[in-house]
Amino acid sequence: MPAPTLRERQSEFALMTGKLILKAYEMGYEVTLGDTFRDPRLHGEYGFKVGYGASRSYHKLRLAIDLNLFKDGGFLQGTEAHKPLGEWWESQGGTWGGRFEDGNHYSWGEGK
Ligand SMILES: [Zn+2]
Repeated sequence: MPAPTLRERQSEFALMTGKLILKAYEMGYEVTLGDTFRDPRLHGEYGFKVGYGASRSYHKLRLAIDLNLFKDGGFLQGTEAHKPLGEWWESQGGTWGGRFEDGNHYSWGEGK
């Protein structure tokens, strides 16, 4: 089977993002959405840094999302709070930003 194309990976990520959000609610959290797609016209092409964020950010490839986590109405800012959800995400084939001090970041596949 040939490797999936970027477009196919993006669609897989979109579906998995839905499952990630449902999983968060199952675990008793609420979420709001942070950064998802970072337009390379504003942030530089993949591999180039313009403004904030990493030059090789998967946000530029439509393969990453930042989720803001809440429990009992309170905003959970720390990386540690994301750990149960992050570990679940990893079990599904994703990369969790908690491994590189970016706890609310969830990307699809091996990249950040
Ligand atoms: Zn991010």
